[in-house]
Amino acid sequence: MDIQQRYFAAEGRYDRAQTLYARCGRSGVLLPRVSLGFWHNFGGVDPYERSRAITHYAFDHGITHFDLANNYGPPYGSAEVTMGRLMDDDFRPYRDELFISTKAGYDMWPGPYGDHGSRKYLMASLDQSLRRMHLDYVDLFYSHRFDPDTPVEETLQAMVDIVRSGKALYLGISNWPLEPLRYAVDYLREAKTPLLIYQGRLNMLYQKPIEEGILEFCREQGIGFIAYSPLAQGLLTDRYLEGIPADSRMAKDHFLHPYSRTPKLLDYLHELEAKGRTNGRSIAQEALTWILDQAGVTSVLVGASSVAQLENNLAVLN
Ligand code: NDP
Repeated sequence: MDIQQRYFAAEGRYDRAQTLYARCGRSGVLLPRVSLGFWHNFGGVDPYERSRAITHYAFDHGITHFDLANNYGPPYGSAEVTMGRLMDDDFRPYRDELFISTKAGYDMWPGPYGDHGSRKYLMASLDQSLRRMHLDYVDLFYSHRFDPDTPVEETLQAMVDIVRSGKALYLGISNWPLEPLRYAVDYLREAKTPLLIYQGRLNMLYQKPIEEGILEFCREQGIGFIAYSPLAQGLLTDRYLEGIPADSRMAKDHFLHPYSRTPKLLDYLHELEAKGRTNGRSIAQEALTWILDQAGVTSVLVGASSVAQLENNLAVLN
């Protein structure tokens, strides 16, 4: 890389620290209220320079938390490969200013050891993630989902041992139901590797963590909560008001089906649009504000396929 292309982070990146960061539960960790997710837009199929520009914009504006998982891409693993390339090209000097998470729990490699919640899978997966990201450790390692067929103690003890090995600093849990979550909180506290954060889907269209008492439980227990898919993968934005753009997730990806663009949704979006006009906010900003106003929410984990989207999302904190 020649000197012209070298990345120097913006000097003023922490100027808005007072409004940008929130304490993650009862811990020493501050997280930006808007964090950046690598599920889509950072894979091997995506243009590297665009992914790179998005991360630069994020970090230049104080977004210190990047969220990954072993199988983000596509193809699986490639978002972590992008992260590794970004570390080499741009972020190595800033490693201690970044809070990088990864996860294991869903299908990753073939055979009986590349999925679910066994010690074998979690340990091997994190080693692979570290190699792909060119990191010695991650800040946060998640169990990506609850596995009812593996003894919960096996999963949790593997997580404890991961922290003790120095490969992760903190532990997180994602998508677990409330009852095993309660057990995990006690187990991890007892082991002196307390649960830092819960990652759950929460947005105006999907409120299960509230309905099922998970958000309240986390708040009571001093555990942070980070909301994923806060824009319902783009449904809660202006993206689909006029149709299905060819470059949108709905057009490209099986995770967001065209049948979710219902007349009812469009009515709801028009209401949000009108409300946003009164408040001087975009639809996306209305949706993010709703989540950030919920007691116990530490951060929203947004995706973005352009710098402009991220800019729009981050402006919610103005
Ligand atoms: P969002 O709900 O934020 O959706 C992101 C998509 O919305 C973008 O790709 C873009 O769609 C559209 N978008 C974003 N901002 C705007 C805007 N301002 N205006 C118009 N459109 C916009 O989040 P994701 O579903 O991407 O999830 C975010 C992160 O959460 C993931 O990257 C991952 O880190 C985490 N996650 C965790 C899961 C878990 O099981 N723990 C599961 C899912 C996500 P388009 O691409 O069409 O432009």
